Amino acid sequence: MAGKRSAPAPEVVPDIPERLAVADAPWLAPTRQRLQAAWRSGRFPHALLLVGRAGLGQSELALWVAQLALCEAADGRPCGGCGACVLFRSGNHPDLHRVTLEDDSKVVKVDQIRALSAVLAMRSYRGGYQVGIVDPADALNTNAFNALLKTLEEPSEQTLLVLVASRPSVLPATIVSRCLRLPMPVPTAAVAGTWLARRRPGTDWEQVLALAQGAPLAALDLAEAGVAELGPALARDLSQVGSAGFDPWRLAEAWHKDRPGERLLWIEHWVTGWLREALAAGDAVNNNRSSGLPRAAAGTNMGPVFAFLDRLRAARAAVEGPLNTQLLLEDLLVAMGEAFAAAQGRTG
Ligand SMILES: [Zn+2]
Repeated sequence: MAGKRSAPAPEVVPDIPERLAVADAPWLAPTRQRLQAAWRSGRFPHALLLVGRAGLGQSELALWVAQLALCEAADGRPCGGCGACVLFRSGNHPDLHRVTLEDDSKVVKVDQIRALSAVLAMRSYRGGYQVGIVDPADALNTNAFNALLKTLEEPSEQTLLVLVASRPSVLPATIVSRCLRLPMPVPTAAVAGTWLARRRPGTDWEQVLALAQGAPLAALDLAEAGVAELGPALARDLSQVGSAGFDPWRLAEAWHKDRPGERLLWIEHWVTGWLREALAAGDAVNNNRSSGLPRAAAGTNMGPVFAFLDRLRAARAAVEGPLNTQLLLEDLLVAMGEAFAAAQGRTG
């Protein structure tokens, strides 16, 4: 139902220009061009689903496409200078509606989606498009998905809904089928490295990018957290795992107080490197020597280490949660000692 509206209170989002600059990243260019072509041809979809691992820029691209739809320069690109763009960049555009996690919540609440649906059903404030961004869209519960589905099934004219998800598999098929799905590409190491070096010179980006599994924004966060400095001491710790006199409780106590998630990322990086080395045992693969892990040799039993890797990944997902991190790390260190002992045919 269309109705008269008063201007909503300004959002407190001072970071929009910075995030729009990220959306200009070179690996997002093909996706930007595709969206611009659709926009210029007048075949713009009502709903977009931007999917990709965290740190590839999908949240930033969501803002960029919102600005594309709201820009009033009408030349098919976000101009940055029209009245709408100025409002947008200051976080005050009345026709941009962002739904995200509130406070410490892990889920987007159904009331947030209902409020979004209600506002999108009304006339836009400036007479053009209205844009709703739901980020992360994979943090909705069933009721919230159902509320969102109603908006997707009966979209108003000049309405754009942008969903952002790093785990698209949790989205119902009824939602996905009503969206244009745009996967975010992972840049090559060279493209990502050049981009990162411009933003923050003097960092060994090759290493940090590998830890971030190629996602440049995740690499920036990791560099900010000092992840590279953690490596050498961690390798020394790991060389003790499973040896006589090794004390997992003490190590877990030290680790859980200082960047436990980053430590597990390093271990995952090394364990996958170890498995690659074990798979190629006999060939001269020797790229994992800094890890403190035992050398992988021919005849190594990889099953226990693959099982440990699964456990490690689950721990990495859980380490930010409400579980007792120290206990989690202690269990993991014991399991690690056992896995590598079993891999080498020793009993733990
Ligand atoms: Zn503009």
